[in-house]
Amino acid sequence: MNAHTPITAALPFAVPSSRWDESVAGKLSPAELLLYRSNLLGGDLTVTNFGGGNTSAKLEEVDPLTGEKVEVLWVKGSGGDIGSMKLDGFATLYQAKLLGLEAHYAGPDDDDKMVGFLPHCTFNLNGRAASIDTPLHSLLPFAHVDHVHPDAIIALAASSGGEAATQEIWGGKIGWLPWKRPGYTLGVMLRDYVKANPQVEGVMLAGHGIICWADSAKACYEHTVQLIADAANYLNAKLGSAPAFGGQKVAPNPDRAAIAADLMPRLRGFMTGARQKLGHFSDDAEALEFTGSVDFERLAALGTSCPDHFLRTKIAPLTLDPARLQDDAYLAQKIADYREMYAAYYERCKRPNSPAMRDSNPVVVLVPGVGRITFATDKTTARLAGEFYGNAINVMRGAEAIGDYIALDEQEAFDIEYWLLEEAKLQRMPAPKPLVGKIALVTGGAGGIGAASAARLLREGACVVLADRAADAVEEVRAGFAKQFGKDVVRAAVCDVTDEAQVQAAIDVAAREFGGLDILVANAGIASSAPIEETTIELWNRNYDVLAQGYFLTARAAWPLMKRMKEQGGSSVVFIGSKNGVAAATNASAYASAKAAANHLARCLALEGAPHGIRVNTVNPDAVIKGSKIWDGDWRKERAGAHGIDSGKELEEHYRQRSMLKRDVLPEDIAEAVYFLGSDMSAKSTGNMINVDAGNAQAFTR
Ligand SMILES: [Zn+2]
Repeated sequence: MNAHTPITAALPFAVPSSRWDESVAGKLSPAELLLYRSNLLGGDLTVTNFGGGNTSAKLEEVDPLTGEKVEVLWVKGSGGDIGSMKLDGFATLYQAKLLGLEAHYAGPDDDDKMVGFLPHCTFNLNGRAASIDTPLHSLLPFAHVDHVHPDAIIALAASSGGEAATQEIWGGKIGWLPWKRPGYTLGVMLRDYVKANPQVEGVMLAGHGIICWADSAKACYEHTVQLIADAANYLNAKLGSAPAFGGQKVAPNPDRAAIAADLMPRLRGFMTGARQKLGHFSDDAEALEFTGSVDFERLAALGTSCPDHFLRTKIAPLTLDPARLQDDAYLAQKIADYREMYAAYYERCKRPNSPAMRDSNPVVVLVPGVGRITFATDKTTARLAGEFYGNAINVMRGAEAIGDYIALDEQEAFDIEYWLLEEAKLQRMPAPKPLVGKIALVTGGAGGIGAASAARLLREGACVVLADRAADAVEEVRAGFAKQFGKDVVRAAVCDVTDEAQVQAAIDVAAREFGGLDILVANAGIASSAPIEETTIELWNRNYDVLAQGYFLTARAAWPLMKRMKEQGGSSVVFIGSKNGVAAATNASAYASAKAAANHLARCLALEGAPHGIRVNTVNPDAVIKGSKIWDGDWRKERAGAHGIDSGKELEEHYRQRSMLKRDVLPEDIAEAVYFLGSDMSAKSTGNMINVDAGNAQAFTR
């Protein structure tokens, strides 16, 4: 959306069409056809949201024990996403055993117990766990079954006018079941409903989604797509050309990206808890349409409807007044109020055996004219929560076009959120990596030490902004890390550390893209070599601009964000210094004295930062030649000249032999020290230097 575009008409629902390709499908086995159909449905975001729904087929297989043919239910297993899943994402279960389970079922109180029987029905030792939706598929007597939650369908399912609209659109071919939380009981209700209404070709599940079926994979896929298209076309006609949600009250603010960059670290600072939060900002069309509308406050208070949406976005979003964003006391109070509201919800709804209350901070924060900010313990979860809230906005738009939007009942919502089996799943999750929740910025991020440091932090779970003045190089490093660590966790910023505005812009990237800054690695550097009489004022200034002033500018710009993290374990600045900042160097007075200035700057900042929980430490490398841009050009020749040796291999051997330990110093060695100083392993250390130089007595600190 253009920055200034006013919202004049409701966003329409996407109308999907069949993407079935018989030249592909014709070659597939029955199980592969199920996968093909699932990927087609899940890969089309107009059909269903991320991870949304599940698909199944009842196929004939040979029993490995008896050699006899048996009917096996292939159904999307627990977790994963139907759009990207592979064949191993399906659970396989003996259909006869699944049907036999009903002998253990006495009523709705048995839902949890029934989940425990599912693994006993496993066919062929398949390790994929069956999902809670399995009974929906096993109890229906149809060969192919799809269950999806596209926005247009949930809009019908979550509207007071939904049942009438379902009748109007499909004339009795699609049935309607009132809300029931997913589980065995819903499967029984559905099976009985279909038996009593044999004309139906699918059933709307109120507050949730749709389930439908057919005799072949292709027919089932095309049936599902057609139902979604029918719903979308119907809603689009009802929405007409008027703006949604009662019309626009607050226009999109053209400065919203800058506002988000300013706001996010402050919100993040107030969200105290076990771990720091990662933020995700979006000013997509849905967010601006909804937050700027007349009906915004009324609808936002209702929360989301579909269980998938609700689980990602919490009971309700936090809404902020755009006129008061500069007021810290207001923001702190709003978050405190939210936490209190959440605790009250927990107290009202908890049952005797409910798990303990979880994190009470808001996940979704909405600001009229600015957009939607989501917070979670990792970046991908924060992004997905935002996307799910975008889906919820679509649902509300459609639901309100045909009646009143109906959110999930509070107790029902609680029972899903604090479901005991969900808690068991959470307890089984591996402990997060040490830097999950931390945000780092590395200057000179495209170079040897910078990229190695960034990789080390990424590997331990941090999100990283790579700042470098070389635009192509930094983008290349970012793309490589995106492949290795995931696209969500790394960003690039073009930044010359001698330029105040560019430094601020890079810090703003950390704020807007991730929500703040916990670890600053000031690494961007240059090197020069010249005897004092040949050191020009330009050369002198160049060294001081990058190595002293550059470190000052990055630390100063990072400071306000880092101060915000005092209550959450503090933050860490790591300066990449040099052996030459401690030990005198021949013919490098500009470089070495500028490095010494940076080293002392670190100590001054350690003193000044301590009351704010900011630690400042220095790593002093020496002779890190591999991967270094500094060592590519003249510096290599100059240093070789200064030592009276050849600039090729001899130089590396020279440095190796010069070290006390007779070892090469690699970028990865420096990165290890950066990781130590950036992480809580060094939580009690500030104002220190760590030499990573394979031993150099001249550089011993004293
Ligand atoms: Zn569902």
